[in-house]
Amino acid sequence: MASEVLTSIPLTSLPRIAKGKVRDLFALPDGDKPTLLFATSDRISAYDVILKNGIPTKGAILTLISAKWFEVLASRVPGLKHHFLHLGPPPSSGLTQEEEQMLRGRSMTVRRLKIFPIEAIGKLSFPLWGSSAWTEYQKTQTIHDLPQPAGLAQCERLPKPIYTPSTKAELGDKDINISPDEARKIVGDKYASRIEELALACYNAGAAYAEERGIIIADTKFEFGLDEETDEVYLVDEVLTPDSSRFWSKTDYEVDKQVLRNWLTENGLKGKDDVEMPAEVVEKTKARYTEVFERLTDNSLEDALKKL
Ligand code: ATP
Ligand code: MG
Repeated sequence: MASEVLTSIPLTSLPRIAKGKVRDLFALPDGDKPTLLFATSDRISAYDVILKNGIPTKGAILTLISAKWFEVLASRVPGLKHHFLHLGPPPSSGLTQEEEQMLRGRSMTVRRLKIFPIEAIGKLSFPLWGSSAWTEYQKTQTIHDLPQPAGLAQCERLPKPIYTPSTKAELGDKDINISPDEARKIVGDKYASRIEELALACYNAGAAYAEERGIIIADTKFEFGLDEETDEVYLVDEVLTPDSSRFWSKTDYEVDKQVLRNWLTENGLKGKDDVEMPAEVVEKTKARYTEVFERLTDNSLEDALKKL
């Protein structure tokens, strides 16, 4: 496991097909089905802006948490298909030894699919503050246009988890909250119901599993893709990580990137470019990501990294 913090993935042996806020995607040589090397950097973004410095080990933490979830969800959600094939690159992918070393723990081989342009969000509670859903609820007693009971307090559980999609913005743009009906218009009737059904099933199964381990998943974002040959909808991307979810500890504090969000807001840096996190924020964020990893996988991070 390479110990340096990687805010970029300098890999040249494979064609890079996309670069997101946190991940770089590389095409793998063709097998039966198109596959990708899904490489996770140590970059962190908050309020849609990437911070200048990264969080040590974050790429591996996110990758290993997602891999665990693919296994857990496949066993708990009947009929679920997902893109995960295995950790790391395939055996003869043409990477140099240095590249393999650099990627250790932070990459996985996945099926390459056609991504639906919506974010399929499952929500059980309002985030603490600064949430667009909370602002909407206060105005109209709805969330993403879905009517809700009166008198809900912030952080209070909703009567049941709901599906609150958003658009999937291009790099640099903001996702916009939409109603399930609007999501239906974007992806088409045929796939909208399946995506909603899978998002809620994965959310419910994940929330139950996490709650057994002392973590409340207040909300989370899933992405889905289509296998155009078989016409089947797949769970893709990262899954139920502290980047894509709001995790609250059942007993004390929030175990996601709230430390970073709070620091940005308190210092008037929310949404600003080129912001460098002080060592204390880096450390606290790393500690929280590590705590989530350890609680969700029933494994110490140190041991898991040694085994790679
Ligand atoms: P955010 O996660 O906040 O939306 P981002 O879209 O910039 O940010 P990254 O996580 O950095 O995301 O990059 C991952 C990219 O890979 C996303 O655009 C996602 O849609 C895409 N992706 C995920 N799984 C697959 C897959 N199986 N096939 C093709 N593309 C995928
Ligand atoms: Mg992403």
